[in-house]
Amino acid sequence: MRLLLIEDEDEAALMIAKGLRQELHTVDVAEDGLKGVRNASSSEYDLIILDIRLPEKDGWEVCRELRTGGLQIPILMLTASGSYQDRVKGLDLGADDYLVKPVDLDELLARVRALLRRRPLLQKPVLKLDTLEIDTRSKTVRRAGQFVRVTAKEYALLECLARDPDTLLDRETISERVWNEPYDPFSNLIEEYIKRLRKKIDIVGQKPLIHARRGEGYILTAREFA
Ligand code: CA
Repeated sequence: MRLLLIEDEDEAALMIAKGLRQELHTVDVAEDGLKGVRNASSSEYDLIILDIRLPEKDGWEVCRELRTGGLQIPILMLTASGSYQDRVKGLDLGADDYLVKPVDLDELLARVRALLRRRPLLQKPVLKLDTLEIDTRSKTVRRAGQFVRVTAKEYALLECLARDPDTLLDRETISERVWNEPYDPFSNLIEEYIKRLRKKIDIVGQKPLIHARRGEGYILTAREFA
């Protein structure tokens, strides 16, 4: 997933960004409210973590502007004060959750996971990447306009990768999402399915989209990946 962290304090920003990256998220950091609004409006993020005390524009104002502008993704607010009024104000302005500083990293990661799980409401029915099209209603796949025949499991794996494009997914995550079971390090099931999918999706004349990083996992992306 792609996350935007709007936080001016270096130490806190580093700690939070590092924790999120360890969970394989892509994290951009904006150091003030103005940059935060600019980033959030120009890029597609899955979630925003927003500090309240910021230079240029405070977190309340950032939240208000983003919601007024129609942004729907989850916003998790951070503040030094745990007062009831502050919490209500944040929620009234459109924040989805609220965390008091100093932030406990494990708690923050748990809240982020919970907010991201609520995301399916916003998901689009047809996922597109380069010339790959996945229709999640009919569960059908096309590459360069041509219908691709896939099995139910191949489809589930492809949709799992396509739900988080440009995001490296580890085998544990894939195993849980596609097979509903913990990853077995002695099994090469995922590799086998990836191999089969590549043959069907990354056909001659089309840009390869399914990539592996040894020991780390798999990614579906049209960008350069090495
Ligand atoms: Ca701050």
